[in-house]
Amino acid sequence: MAERKPEWLKIKLNTGENFKELKRMMRGKTLHTVCEEARCPNIYECWANRTATFMILGDMCTRACRFCAVKTGLPTELDLAEPERVAEATEQMGLKHVVVTSVARDDLKDGGALIFAETIRAIRKRAPLCSIEVLIPDFLGNWDALKTVMDAKPDILNHNIETVERLSDRVRSKAKYNRTLELLSKSKEFQPDVPTKSSIMIGVGETIEEIIATMDDLRRMDVDILTIGQYLQPTPKHLPVKKFYHPDEFAKLKEEGLKRGFKHVESGPLVRSSYHAHEQVESAAKA
Ligand code: SF4
Ligand code: SF4
Repeated sequence: MAERKPEWLKIKLNTGENFKELKRMMRGKTLHTVCEEARCPNIYECWANRTATFMILGDMCTRACRFCAVKTGLPTELDLAEPERVAEATEQMGLKHVVVTSVARDDLKDGGALIFAETIRAIRKRAPLCSIEVLIPDFLGNWDALKTVMDAKPDILNHNIETVERLSDRVRSKAKYNRTLELLSKSKEFQPDVPTKSSIMIGVGETIEEIIATMDDLRRMDVDILTIGQYLQPTPKHLPVKKFYHPDEFAKLKEEGLKRGFKHVESGPLVRSSYHAHEQVESAAKA
């Protein structure tokens, strides 16, 4: 059993004008943002900096990872007009950086890859100055589907490893540690100029040595950007938190990551995969 939530994780939502304006804009659109639905603690800061994460392909996932609060079930629809709506919202919100992610659609032959690609193309057309990051599922190892996404040339290809090898099968549903590594390596093969990124959430029972070994594995796949954040249990039915890491431990992990050659490392208790994502594109491009 982990100790009670420490002080550094207790934050107040600061809802300023910029945030309210974007929230008004989102109302009435049939789109989901992870920022709102996951009640992400960074929403004020991200939206004020014109960064948001859209969830496409519905809100029902074909998998049931033990850390994730998204509903599980068999999705019934495929919304072909969604790419255009995401592009329109990106333009209207004046986003500088947009993250597009999805549930795992194992019911679809291409896992939803074509919709990802169409969304990238539609955003490019409507908001050419906005950088585009896709946070994709593993498409069950269908590399043709991955190629469809990479051919649309996102600015960042993100796929999360989530946890260390020993805990992977227990924490994630269907995803495989080695398949994640292979996906990250294949992405570089398809588009060597597109930076790759991955995230680890810590606090589910891993050791520091295992976190470092995971970093080494990611670097072997030439991953450019790493984010590390604290796991928080969404409901009592989900995996318990084994440890709350201190901010100093996150800082130490950041140092270890940079030493290993990542171009950018975000590491902190409230860091989520898309946190400070705009800065990450810039430093990956400069490095
Ligand atoms: Fe949205 Fe990601 Fe920022 Fe959270 S960290 S508010 S999900 S863009
Ligand atoms: Fe959640 Fe993604 Fe796992 Fe689905 S595949 S349960 S959305 S983490």
